[in-house]
This record gives sequence, C-alpha cells and structure tokens, in this order.
Amino acid sequence: MWLGVVSVFPEMFSALTGFGVTGRAFRQQQLSLHCFNPRDYGESVSRRVDDRPYGGGPGMVMQIDPLRKCIQAARQQAVDAGFIDVPVHGLSPQGQPVKQAAIQELATLPAIIFLCGRYEGIDERLLQLEVDQEWSVGDFVVSGGELPAMMLMDALIRLQPGVLGCGLSAAQDSFAGEGLLDCPHYTRPPVYAGQSVPEVLLSGDHQAIADWRYQQQLQRTAERRPDLWQQWLLRASDKVRIKYSGENIAGNE
Ligand code: SAM
Repeated sequence: MWLGVVSVFPEMFSALTGFGVTGRAFRQQQLSLHCFNPRDYGESVSRRVDDRPYGGGPGMVMQIDPLRKCIQAARQQAVDAGFIDVPVHGLSPQGQPVKQAAIQELATLPAIIFLCGRYEGIDERLLQLEVDQEWSVGDFVVSGGELPAMMLMDALIRLQPGVLGCGLSAAQDSFAGEGLLDCPHYTRPPVYAGQSVPEVLLSGDHQAIADWRYQQQLQRTAERRPDLWQQWLLRASDKVRIKYSGENIAGNE
C-alpha cells in the first residue's frame, strides 16, 4: 500500500514508521509512506502556508495554493509509482465518524493521500476542489490532523495481509466480523491479588472456551455499547438471537 501524507509536520509520522507493528510493516516494505510538506510550496521566503481569515475572527487558515500544489505533487508521485486516481482523504472534526467498516474498505485501496489540517482549518475551496472524503476521529478537537491521520493509517496497516503476526487477531478484535466488542483477555499468573482467571480458560476445552468468549463478547457489547448491541440484534439470525440474547445478557428487555 502506498500512503501519502500532506502535513506541515512530517516529522510526527516517525511515531508510525518507527515503532511496533506499524514500524515493522514499513521496515519490511509491506507499505511505503511519502510525506509532502505544503511549506515547500509556499511562495514567501518564510514559506508561510496560513493567512488571516476573511471576515475576521481568531486564528489562521491554511491557504489554498500551497496546499493544492502540494496535493498535486503527491498525486504525481503516486502516478509515477504506478497508482492512478489516488483519493485524497482529509482529517476534520466535521468529517464522517471513522468506523471499523470504513477502515476495512479503505484497507483494500492500493494508495491513499491523507490531508492534515492545522490552525483554524483549511480554506473551504481547497476541500471542494481536492478532497474526496473527510474523516473525524471523534467529537472533540485536536490541534492538527497528524494524530488523526496516524490513527487511521495504523488501523489500515494492521489489516494489510501479513502485517499482524497472527492473521486471525484482527478478525477477533472489537468491531470486526459481527460488530461486537472483544472478549476479556488474561495471562499468567492464574491468581493475582485474589483475582482468578476464569476457570474455563484453564480447562483446555477449546469448544467451551470459544463459547465462553462469544458469550462474553455479547455480554460486554450489551452492557457497554447498547447502540452496537441493537444493531447486532437486528442482524443476527433468529436462531442465534434466541440462543444468545437470553435474559442473562444485560440490555435485553
Ligand atoms: N476549526 C475547526 C473546527 O472546529 O471544525 C477545527 C480545526 S483543528 C484546531 C485543526 C485541524 O486538526 C483540523 O483541520 C483537522 O485536520 C484536525 N482535527 C482536529 N480535530 C479532529 C478530529 N476530531 N478528527 C479529525 N481531525 C481533526
């Protein structure tokens, strides 16, 4: 996967390329990251990319021209690498809330360019001209699009074939598959501060363990995320719903 990033702070992306699962994926060249800095396309000596907002008010706005040239340079580099029609995905608190289903779709794309805003945001005309989709990582505001972009990229990278040590682990995470939360996990020691690991997990009975885990997923989803639970109830077949959505699961009437 070819990942492009338009950001005035490209150094921040070393957090993604230098550590953990994502760092290993880049080192093993399962993906490539290409950073483009709008300052390289700013016209003034100071390479400014922001200006005061029309109409007054606090803060600064990212200017259209350096951003547009920067995005075009990113597109061109993608074309040179053999990727055409590469979409530009912006990060914005006003964007579509990111869900795992969207990540699964994006993860199938061969190439994406992420656009990171700063200051009060980006000149609206740039968004109209160049951006295909905007994504929000939650109903709160951070100072720039770099951390949200890294969150999306991390989520995409871990879905790429061969990136996670155990191929199944992403399929068993929260929101995957049936859209349930993950089950609780335990490791050694078997007892700590009077708290024991559930006996079934020590039983060696794989079917009993799988049943217990599934039951825990349902229980947790019903308790913690009634929104997801209601969606699961709507999707589940009658047989499964009757089997698992009994009165022992919180949230059932
Ligand atoms: N004035 C903007 C608003 O209220 O919609 C917020 C601008 S914010 C300080 C600067 C940049 O951070 C945004 O352009 C965007 O790229 C990024 N950003 C902030 N919060 C975000 C969120 N929840 N999701 C995605 N990006 C976000």
